[in-house]
Amino acid sequence: IQTKLPKVGTTIFSVMSQLALEHKAVNLGQGFPDFDPPQALRDALSRAMNEGRNQYAPMTGIPPLREQIALKTERLYGRRISADTEVTVTSGATEAIFAAIACSVGAGDEVIVLDPCYDCYEPAIELAGGRAVHVPLRLPDFAVDWQRVRDAVTPKTRMIMVNTPHNPSGAIFTRADLDALAEIVRASGILVLSDEVYEHIVYDGAAHQSVLRHAELAERSFVISSFGKTYHCTGWKVGYCVAPKPLSAEFRKVHQYLTFCTFNPAQWAFAEMIEQAPQHYLELAAFYQAKRDRFRGLLAPSRLKLLDVPGGYFQLVDYTAIRDTDDINFCEWLVREGGVAAIPLTPFYETAPQSRLVRLCFAKNDATLEAAAERLCAL
Ligand code: PMP
Ligand code: GLN
Repeated sequence: IQTKLPKVGTTIFSVMSQLALEHKAVNLGQGFPDFDPPQALRDALSRAMNEGRNQYAPMTGIPPLREQIALKTERLYGRRISADTEVTVTSGATEAIFAAIACSVGAGDEVIVLDPCYDCYEPAIELAGGRAVHVPLRLPDFAVDWQRVRDAVTPKTRMIMVNTPHNPSGAIFTRADLDALAEIVRASGILVLSDEVYEHIVYDGAAHQSVLRHAELAERSFVISSFGKTYHCTGWKVGYCVAPKPLSAEFRKVHQYLTFCTFNPAQWAFAEMIEQAPQHYLELAAFYQAKRDRFRGLLAPSRLKLLDVPGGYFQLVDYTAIRDTDDINFCEWLVREGGVAAIPLTPFYETAPQSRLVRLCFAKNDATLEAAAERLCAL
């Protein structure tokens, strides 16, 4: 058959996890915790199943969960949103990204993405008939060069996609970034897709700069989050999209036929957790900051150069001192010979720079981080 995605193979996350298994490597590649979700959440999930929450949920998500998402949004970002018309529960952030793009991007439209960017963005744009326009982030800090974004805007630009905290770098937006984005989209029809799946993982006292804090941006944005990241349950695949009523209405037209609704029992469990244990998301940054600092301390004696990590749960490292080879070769060598799986950055780029950087996930138990660090320090 004629392929619709000629450039796409199997995602690097599947490839590296498979190699990690084959080589019995410590897997710091694909981003997922190797510890369980909170006991209270697991209890709430089994209770929901035992109480008969096993049939279709409402298409847009169960009302108590949408209500809790709206309350949390107001509490954290100061924006009042309608649980009824502006929140949609989705089957992970990935589904939300596909639905947001499918409902708003059409043939010939351009979507600006900032490289390196998460690997599902471009295929979603292409399947919608659009074209991704890649603007590189500035090295070494992965900040947005807003002048370059401005220069990339054309009459065909339909959407700009942003991601803070950023995967893979951990870079975070400042208020000035939101203002610069607002200035670019002002007086245009350009929409914003803001991928904020790591919204609760921002370090060193910084505040997460959600586009929902910015009234002008919020009025034209799909804001996407994921309970998988917040509650250590990436395999449950539950996320959500917050968008103004007219955008949510279009979003729901796609969501209802993409999947119709999301796993019902988990929605009851998350509604209960957000309401009864808000400390979980409020303390998540401190929880991961301790892991970040521990991991960086363990790697200090290694020959890897550690980049700063302002947010998220990935550590970028420069491996120049160990091997003079590209990042894909290095990761293949590392998983085979070094016993550690990492993620190369090249798959996150249209045109990768010749940087010698790979990504390590530190959302892991201390024992896993120690085992990985021991191997990395031996290189
Ligand atoms: N966006 C980013 C930046 C991510 O890192 C991820 C998960 N790795 C997703 C979206 C997808 O989230 P989910 O697993 O909820 O589909
Ligand atoms: N988002 C995760 C990461 O960046 C992977 C998710 C996936 O495997 N699709 O590692």
